[in-house]
Amino acid sequence: MSLVRSKKKSDKSDTIQSFTMDGYPVRGWVIRLNTTYRSIISQRPYPNLLRQLMAESLVTSVVVSEMCVEPGTLMMEYTGTEGIDLLSVRCTQENEIRALIQTSKVIQSKTHLKSSLSEGLLTVTYHPRSKGESYINDIPIMDYSMLSSMTHFLENSERMPSQFKLAITPHSVVGLCLQYVPTFEYENSVDYEHVLCRAGAMKEEHLLQYNNATLLCKLFPEETICFDQTKKLCFKCDCSCQKMQDAMLDMGNANIAKILSDKEKIEITCDYCNKQYEFDRIDVQQLFKIGQRGGWSNIIH
Ligand SMILES: [Zn+2]
Repeated sequence: MSLVRSKKKSDKSDTIQSFTMDGYPVRGWVIRLNTTYRSIISQRPYPNLLRQLMAESLVTSVVVSEMCVEPGTLMMEYTGTEGIDLLSVRCTQENEIRALIQTSKVIQSKTHLKSSLSEGLLTVTYHPRSKGESYINDIPIMDYSMLSSMTHFLENSERMPSQFKLAITPHSVVGLCLQYVPTFEYENSVDYEHVLCRAGAMKEEHLLQYNNATLLCKLFPEETICFDQTKKLCFKCDCSCQKMQDAMLDMGNANIAKILSDKEKIEITCDYCNKQYEFDRIDVQQLFKIGQRGGWSNIIH
């Protein structure tokens, strides 16, 4: 009795697990984001529509990163001018994720969301660990949704028809992705369509209610599911004092001097994790001396 109960228990982990189905030209992934999702959305007061956009962006980024054969880092970036200035998701080969959405207007309605996603550019870049050539893809925005956009991209650009199903709560996101993998044995996609049809009929709350094994067992009771090892995901920002110092050096001593003309110190807050960094005049003087971007002592006294 207790075994059945534990099997049905929802899974509060931060994980991605891939699977295949015996006899079907299909592979899939179940992704669960709990603490990671909460950590990311707690950095800013995101309205519900942006939380949904963030959830879609996180799930699709992590799954597409898993689809890549060579380990590396995936970046999804949307830049716009009509409300959403920047949407950025980064997933590293260690499955460390950071993400943010920066807005210049309040996004409270679907109309606002549509207009803010209508003019911008969505790009997915993959940097392989081998330091070889990065893969950069410009992706058309479909239906003002990251799920639709990434589904369209995978099918039309990558020839990897895929379908996502998502369940989002205020505290967690669970996603299921199914992908058609043609083989010599199964050349047509009829079996894939059958699998999609079954997944399409699934209620979203089942994604939240059941763990991976129970979920797929309920979805495909007749089929044999082969799971790969579960991989852990986590929220992690790699900001550092060194990176903030590099950013100040890039700004140039004239700009930094201007800020320090009416302040005792420079305060920089990381946009991804809200960690704060402070640099006083001596720190800055030393930085520009070491950084050899000269002339600091002539400006600040
Ligand atoms: Zn940070």
